[in-house]
Amino acid sequence: MTTGAGARLLEGAPIAEEIRANVKADVAAFTAANGRPPALAVVVCGRSAPSMVYLERILKACASAGIDGRFVDVEGESVTAQAEGLAAAVRELSADATVSGIIVQMPLPAGINLRVVVDAIDPLKDIDGIHPLNAGLLRLGYEGFVPATAHAALEMLERSGVVIPGAEAVVIGRSPVVGMPVAFMLVKGGATVTVCHSRTRDLAVHTSRADIVVVAAGRPGLVTGRMLKPGAVVVDVGINVVEGRIVGDVDFPSASAVASAITPVPGGVGPLTNALLLAHLVRAAQRQSAESAATHVSPISAIAPPPTQGAS
Ligand code: NAD
Repeated sequence: MTTGAGARLLEGAPIAEEIRANVKADVAAFTAANGRPPALAVVVCGRSAPSMVYLERILKACASAGIDGRFVDVEGESVTAQAEGLAAAVRELSADATVSGIIVQMPLPAGINLRVVVDAIDPLKDIDGIHPLNAGLLRLGYEGFVPATAHAALEMLERSGVVIPGAEAVVIGRSPVVGMPVAFMLVKGGATVTVCHSRTRDLAVHTSRADIVVVAAGRPGLVTGRMLKPGAVVVDVGINVVEGRIVGDVDFPSASAVASAITPVPGGVGPLTNALLLAHLVRAAQRQSAESAATHVSPISAIAPPPTQGAS
């Protein structure tokens, strides 16, 4: 499908549907072989409305894929009690052999450091890639778990036939959840990558020479058509609410008049994120099941070495 302005519209739903169908088949095979479905624990501490919507959507997707989705609610009278409850819950789930993957509602309540979760989560169950071990594996080119949103941005490019090797790519945003993992994956894919952020002096200088622009800043209208090279591919990861409507970080009307392909918001990267999270869960379950005969599974020994080890 193309936009009114002629750019190809990169929609997430058809790709997500394909991924979900594969997940469903893999879940059925896992369940038949193990006598139980893979389980995903969704840990919530201090409910915030937008992320609750996201988590409820994940649990619904679990149900339709045959995954045992478990909601774990951590309560506490004080921040200290909440932090202790969170650490205890994540530690218990990490030790529970029937749980294959764990995600924790983000952002954590004010005053609770991410370290509380990181210190408790088993990296082999960290299916949204928040643990430094998984971040390090990505950095070194190994196959660990990458954050699902960053994976979705890359999957969108790859499945849409965008050529990554040799491309000039600009990533706007340097967060550990989106910007940096996208940048590392693009480098691994052979692109020449520039990472822009809030201290970048002139964004347009960089975006105007990029073949691929991935935007994850959380700033509506940040990238406009006049900042883009004609024919660029634009992936908009941003989710912002403006006057009650969900919009991305890219000014869609002007950008789609210049780009050759562009993701809509909503309907682009978002639908892929959930589907890929479940795909990560299945991978975690399969890996844990294959390794269960071993007495001790090192997070690194369970992970394949990088295919291009030694390549410069
Ligand atoms: P973040 O706030 O952690 O990071 C934002 C990044 O953008 C920072 O690195 C900052 O330096 C950069 N930035 C901010 N203003 C800028 C500017 N004017 N120019 C250049 N860079 C600027 O956010 P995040 O968690 O990385 O999320 C980014 C966006 O992606 C948000 O809109 C968020 O809602 C969205 N998001 C979408 C999904 C999804 O599934 N589609 C998932 C997670 C996050």
